[in-house]
Order: sequence, then C-alpha cells, then structure tokens
Amino acid sequence: MARYYVLLGPPGAGKGTQARVVSEKLGLAHVSSGDLFRENLKNQTELGKLAQSYMNRGELVPDDVTIAMVRDRLQQPDTKNGALLDGFPRTPAQAEALGEMLSQLGAEVNGVPLISVPDEELVNRLSGRWTCRARGHVFHEKFNPPQKPGVCDFDQSELYQRDDDRAETVRTRISVYWNQTAPLIDYYRKCGKLVEIDGNQPIECVTRDLLAALQSE
Ligand code: AMP
Repeated sequence: MARYYVLLGPPGAGKGTQARVVSEKLGLAHVSSGDLFRENLKNQTELGKLAQSYMNRGELVPDDVTIAMVRDRLQQPDTKNGALLDGFPRTPAQAEALGEMLSQLGAEVNGVPLISVPDEELVNRLSGRWTCRARGHVFHEKFNPPQKPGVCDFDQSELYQRDDDRAETVRTRISVYWNQTAPLIDYYRKCGKLVEIDGNQPIECVTRDLLAALQSE
C-alpha cells in the first residue's frame, strides 16, 4: 500500500534537507513543489514564467496551477510506493485537493510531521543558504557547509543563493507561512495525523526523530 507523508514547517525549517534523506531511506518519491517550480523556471516553461513573479516576492503561486502541477507529479511511476511531500500543501484548499487526489488513488495522507524552528533562527538559516543548480541539494555556509565552497558535495554542480532567500523576501515568506499555511497544523492535528518534530537541533538528530516518527506509523 502506497504511503504519503506531508512535511510541514516554515521556510528554513529544513524540510528539503530532511526530505531528501528520509524519502530515500523509506523508498518514497520526494515531491517538492518549490523544486518543481524552480525546474519550470529554469526551463522557461509557461508555468515557470507565471510562477516567477510570485516566487520572487515570496508569495504563494495560485492554488489552481500549483494543484495541477502536483497532481501531475503524483501520477509519475516513481510514486508507486508513495511520496514525501515537501512544501505542498501550503493552503487549506491545497490540503483538500491533496485529500481528493489521494483518495482517487485509493490512498490517503498517512502522517504529517511538523518541523518547528523559532522564527529568528529561520532568518539566519535562509540568509546563509546555498543551493545546488543541478538538483537542488542545500547547504549552509555555517551550519552545513559543502566540502568545497561553491560546489555541491553530491554532484559537483555550482551552488547559488536563491533570489527569494534575501532578507526582505524571507520575512514575507515567513509571514505567508503563518497566515496561509499554519492553519494546516490544526487541520491535520484534528484528524490525528500531526507529529511534532523539534527542528532546532543538528540535522542528523532531526533525521533520526523523523524516521522514528514515520516508521512507528
Ligand atoms: P520552497 O522551495 O518550498 O521554499 O518554495 C519556493 C516558492 O515556490 C514559494 O515561496 C512559493 O512562491 C512557491 N511555492 C512552492 N510551493 C508552493 C505551494 N504549495 N503553493 C504555492 N506556492 C508554492
């Protein structure tokens, strides 16, 4: 039976870093809506061009296009065992749509780990973040530095700083999280799916806690 998990948490909580490791360990597809938008942007597709202005402002891309993009992604064969969703859903409408998509596949959301990190820590994390151009691996100049500055440890591609990791955009993204995405915490708590994870610890400890939570499901 395919299993689906939603990784919740503010920008900078470490969702992408954790999702990569944990999805591989559990044999699930890593589905990151932010990575899908950046891929579209890189390839200059219509979707990428549409998403660009929202992303640069740190705002959410409209629900209809985001939902259609993820629906498509969840039909790819690599999701046959399920998926770890990172950055989706981000609004109540997206959460409803996800529930419907999964029920059409005869599945459901099996668990929702919430990675919590204090807001002041998020700004520090995002402003020192470096992302790999090829596949989106993330590093931090202080907390998780690459072996060679400017070069990805995993595929040797160039590291760059995302436009939306600038301090003023980071603040918008954090407030968008609290206004539009945080209601999902209650939504999933009410249906008994939320598991809280302390994200304010070393990367390996967060991975350990996440794996423990998901494997006990
Ligand atoms: P992320 O990489 O998850 O931080 O996402 C980067 C940007 O992509 C966000 O600030 C939004 O502009 C856009 N984005 C990613 N996921 C979503 C989503 N589920 N709904 C709307 N916009 C999204």
